[in-house]
Amino acid sequence: AREQVSYFGAGPARLPTSVLANASAALLNYNNTGLGIAEHSHRSALSSNILTQAAQYFKTLLNIPNDDSYTVIFMQGGGTTQFSSVVYNLVGYWVERRLRKHGGDLEKVRADLKDMKCEYLLTGGWSLKASQEAARLLGDEHVSIVIDARKANGGKWGIIPEEKDWSLVEKKDSALAYFCDNETVDGVEFPSFPNALESAEGEEDERLVIGDMSSNILSRPVDAKKYAVIFAGAQKNIGTTGITIVLIRKSILDCQPSPVTLRALNLPIPPIMMHYPTLASSSSLYNTLPIFDVYIAGEVMSQLLTSGGVAAIAAAAERKSSSVYEVIDKNPTVFTPVITDTRVRSRMNVCFRLVKGKDGRDLEKQFFEEAEKKGLLGIKGHRSVGGGRISCYNAVGEEEVAKLVAFMKEFATKQG
Ligand code: PMP
Repeated sequence: AREQVSYFGAGPARLPTSVLANASAALLNYNNTGLGIAEHSHRSALSSNILTQAAQYFKTLLNIPNDDSYTVIFMQGGGTTQFSSVVYNLVGYWVERRLRKHGGDLEKVRADLKDMKCEYLLTGGWSLKASQEAARLLGDEHVSIVIDARKANGGKWGIIPEEKDWSLVEKKDSALAYFCDNETVDGVEFPSFPNALESAEGEEDERLVIGDMSSNILSRPVDAKKYAVIFAGAQKNIGTTGITIVLIRKSILDCQPSPVTLRALNLPIPPIMMHYPTLASSSSLYNTLPIFDVYIAGEVMSQLLTSGGVAAIAAAAERKSSSVYEVIDKNPTVFTPVITDTRVRSRMNVCFRLVKGKDGRDLEKQFFEEAEKKGLLGIKGHRSVGGGRISCYNAVGEEEVAKLVAFMKEFATKQG
């Protein structure tokens, strides 16, 4: 039964049981309409309410003013689709601004374009993938690597290089500066918004920052004003797989080139489902959106709001992850933390390895087997890196983490 297992999977992740219980009823008969929520038209008033409300919960939780400066849209295609979308839309914004500045003179834009860069901070597998997509769409010459954490760490992820060592291009040439706030596979999280990416308010050539918050959204306060776009797949901290929440600065929507301009400049034209202005102007309903997933997200966020909001969840995340890191650090003959720089340790995904037993025994296999017997599930590391990974997302209870920590202590003691 559900109560008998604790689940620390990296995504899809645990969802609050009460939300799922209500959702199962809603799948059969939503609000006494005689129809399940997944059967109602996405264009019905009922669906539109669900959408508006979910967007509002999101804004309230992240303290985003209702002054029209930011728009929330719901998209499909996961975080991965955003790797492409941000490139299309931010390069579009860069081009259209240049075009306006040069009074519509395409030749001048073409000349400027030679130096245009999408800037990437590489701190793990997901930011790397995003940068590879930019290179695929635009060519390597338009991708600039601000940092590659592996180069400063013997070929492995696990650190965030000091800002003095970052190579940023001139702001006027930067179409976007991209970072992954929490690297889900590698366990590296930015402690706070990087100073080096700050722009003064109203600066003409601002650096437009993109934050992938797929695995740590709504787990701590965020100063949204510092970002041009924040995106997050729902399946870790917000809800079910199927929707991605995208927060976009409104000015980007209002300044996009025509396909004719893009074609003339040999730039890729965004597929319509990745074109932010199209989705925004149709209130995320350019096509059939899975309203069931939006409903779940809304219910999760509503619960978050009534249980103390992001501040409370941030405090819990700190307690949960520190207790896991503590048992790892205190038992070095059994566990090794993957991230040794405590400043950049992820509060969401705690990565570790098992030391080989004294007699050369593979403790890892034994650890996972014993954990599973105790109903502690989803703690294997990503298939690309191995080891263990404990994901402490919002819906993972403190009592579940306490159970796991107790098991780890006991396991370590047994090894002597
Ligand atoms: N970014 C991050 C930080 C992720 O953790 C993931 C998936 N785990 C993705 C992007 C890709 O998301 P999706 O599988 O929804 O495309």
